[in-house]
Amino acid sequence: KMASLNDIRSTFLNYFESKGHTVVPSSPLVPRNDPTLMFTNSGMVQFKNCFTGVEKRDYVRATTAQKCVRAGGKHNDLDNVGYTARHHTFFEMLGNFSFGDYFKHDAIPFAWELITKEYGIDKSRLLTTVYHTDDEAFEIWKKVGVPEDRIIRIATSDNFWQMGPTGPCGPCTEIFFDHGDHIWGGPPGSPEEDGDRFIEIWNVVFMQNEQFEDGSMVELDMQSIDTGMGLERIGALLQGSHDNYDTDLFKALIEASAHATSTDPYGDQNVHHRVIADHLRSTSFLIADGVMPSNDGRGYVLRRIMRRAMRHAHLLGAKDPVMHKLVSSLVGKMGAAYPELGQAQALIEETLKLEETRFIQTLDRGLKLLDDELDKLPEGANLPGEAAFKLYDTYGFPLDLTQDALREKGRAVDTDGFDTAMEEQKAKARASWSGSGESKDATIWFDLADKLEATDFLGYETEVAEGQV
Ligand code: ATP
Ligand code: MG
Ligand code: MG
Ligand code: MG
Repeated sequence: KMASLNDIRSTFLNYFESKGHTVVPSSPLVPRNDPTLMFTNSGMVQFKNCFTGVEKRDYVRATTAQKCVRAGGKHNDLDNVGYTARHHTFFEMLGNFSFGDYFKHDAIPFAWELITKEYGIDKSRLLTTVYHTDDEAFEIWKKVGVPEDRIIRIATSDNFWQMGPTGPCGPCTEIFFDHGDHIWGGPPGSPEEDGDRFIEIWNVVFMQNEQFEDGSMVELDMQSIDTGMGLERIGALLQGSHDNYDTDLFKALIEASAHATSTDPYGDQNVHHRVIADHLRSTSFLIADGVMPSNDGRGYVLRRIMRRAMRHAHLLGAKDPVMHKLVSSLVGKMGAAYPELGQAQALIEETLKLEETRFIQTLDRGLKLLDDELDKLPEGANLPGEAAFKLYDTYGFPLDLTQDALREKGRAVDTDGFDTAMEEQKAKARASWSGSGESKDATIWFDLADKLEATDFLGYETEVAEGQV
């Protein structure tokens, strides 16, 4: 019998538990006490202070399956969904962590034993990368049995991890699986590495340095391990595919989406079902963790994801709200591992239904306007900023939704023009307020609102968890 994603998650946690790790629950998607990070985007987020030594816990080895969202800030995979076989906006990151306890000599053999023995992956299809100067990691890989020509030295930041501009950092090693030459793509470090043939499954970070503001870097006394493996990627592999959307979980969601829209789950319509299935997960988990759709900050990221999904449902011909009908299949698949999902089911369904009911009223007209605008333009020309702004302002189209719609047609938006139109509208709003006689100081409110909006999005500029994991 084929292992399900639920089985694969358990195997990981059990393996590390057997190696003395404490199984720690996933932290929420909204990071506690961290206004600089929009969403939890890796397993290490909840342990940040353990790596710096600021926080001590009663364990020095931990393992988690962490809920992650990469749909805003520096880590943004929103535009990859529907286009690659390996990216989601929401995914689970499996990780093992050492806080000043074991280091490279254990972390590499642990990873190798788990994937080749417990999971039974064919060794001859695996490749690893190391940071170009990390001879130590290179030697350990050789020792566990990886042939030298399958250990690739990489000199870019892909193999050097940093928590932020300053602080703990270090080289990392990544494990790739070659899904075979029937899929386009090249090995890591090659020009075709972004294809889906060689898929990165696991990133193992060696925290051994500290970076200071003046540019200097020292060796840390406390050496730590931080790893991350995407459950959906290892799941696809173990279920015999290179494509995350072929896993048991995604098949169930895609079939639910096809059923709700009375369409074919595969063929040309498959891409819409993929986006819907992906966005259903991020939307549901975000709502379960307390995010509600709104016009700024985290809530606006949620709204953007929901509306993107709704456009794809529209492209499948849906005339009535559909997203809320899919929640029960998600809860059926993931509710046991994440009880918060079942607890919030009614809220998730209501929120989706309300948002979709509202958006449907303008979606159709907005898409018509978009088509009319495109008809007026010379072939291949970008959509003028004012048109994109009108779609945003009057029809509730987030800019990225318009961009996603245009991408299918090989076009783009004039984003400078969009920004200008946005500024003009703000200026007009200011002028009409101060002229209304209600309060001379009304403009102060606008300035304040601008500022607040800017700080709410602090994450865009200062997001700490850069690089990988
Ligand atoms: P990629 O290069 O494929 O975008 P990454 O280097 O950005 O991946 P990391 O930041 O190293 O990914 O995260 C650790 C692991 O989490 C990856 O090796 C991968 O298995 C998984 N992962 C990362 N991003 C995603 C995503 N958007 N969807 C699903 N899994 C992901
Ligand atoms: Mg990435
Ligand atoms: Mg990568
Ligand atoms: Mg990586």
